[in-house]
Amino acid sequence: MKTKFQQNQSLVLIVDDEPFIRTQLRLALDREGYQIAEARNGIEALILFEKLRPQIVLMDAIMPGMDGFECCMQLQSLEQGKYTPVLMITGLEDQESVDHAFDAGAIDYVTKPIHWPVLRQRVKRLIQQSQLQQQLEAANQELQRLVTIDGLTQVASRRKFEEYFSQEWQRMARDQLSLSLILCDVDYFKSYNDTYGHRAGDRCLQKVAQAIKDSVKRPADLVARYGGEEFAVILPKTEIQGAMILADKICSVVRRLAIPHSNSQVSGYVTISAGVATDIPQPGSDFQDMISAADRALYQAKIEGRDRFKKATKQAPANFSIPRWGA
Ligand code: GH3
Ligand code: MG
Ligand code: MG
Repeated sequence: MKTKFQQNQSLVLIVDDEPFIRTQLRLALDREGYQIAEARNGIEALILFEKLRPQIVLMDAIMPGMDGFECCMQLQSLEQGKYTPVLMITGLEDQESVDHAFDAGAIDYVTKPIHWPVLRQRVKRLIQQSQLQQQLEAANQELQRLVTIDGLTQVASRRKFEEYFSQEWQRMARDQLSLSLILCDVDYFKSYNDTYGHRAGDRCLQKVAQAIKDSVKRPADLVARYGGEEFAVILPKTEIQGAMILADKICSVVRRLAIPHSNSQVSGYVTISAGVATDIPQPGSDFQDMISAADRALYQAKIEGRDRFKKATKQAPANFSIPRWGA
């Protein structure tokens, strides 16, 4: 048979003004292997809660000073409070008191005299439930991180790009402010892979992504992996002059990485080309137009020799079809 400490290490905070009840609860829970902390009133409970971070709180309703209902309510506003179940244990069983307890955020309610086998199961299950819920939330957060961050380069994913661009487009349309977009594409990257291998290609993309990220300073700016060897930078509240300075800087920092590329027709190093577009979005207009404009400017930078950026012109020439860069 397991010893009690192998069974359970969860900490239970008992809050009751009556020493006799606290002792009874402590003895019963101690037998189950829980660790116990005791508070004599609401104020003491809040202090101990913050200090000890218990897994569950057993709370009396009527206590001098701050009562159990008020204490329960205040616990909910604490950082860890929303995850920690509060079980009310009280002599009050009128409907108003029960409603009051649940309104204050208690997860369950048992009445005195305590039915020990029931209490034992409730405590166990409530702790399990809250642990499961916390694991679920952590898993959800990790999932959210995985879909918003590109696995290889650790910049934002294409999905995050779409979401953020659409959001900022609407925000800039509402405030009538400039939104800028830089699309970057690594030059002659296919031949880089062919020369150095796909793994070296991956490492190259990681370095280029980091260099672009390091060039971008404002918290609202977003660097994303737009496609295989293409990166996008979203610059809210940024006019064309500012966006062009940044595009120039990005081209320079990648050049200065001095990653050897013996088959590049630009130089012996890895370089990028970029297209820059800026607009004050009009309510109801399509943000895809701006992406197309940046893409056309990028194409222009490619045909003018690569390792440079170009600013988008307002309109696409007639019969212009947008080329796709990269995989
Ligand atoms: P350009 O200068 O005109 O842009 O030429 P390019 O060779 O860079 O363009 P192209 O679109 O022909 O080739 C893009 C290459 O990027 C092809 C593809 O295999 C490679 N690529 C795309 N994603 C990845 C990746 O995740 N890792 C590696 N190593 N290569 C990738
Ligand atoms: Mg390319
Ligand atoms: Mg490309």
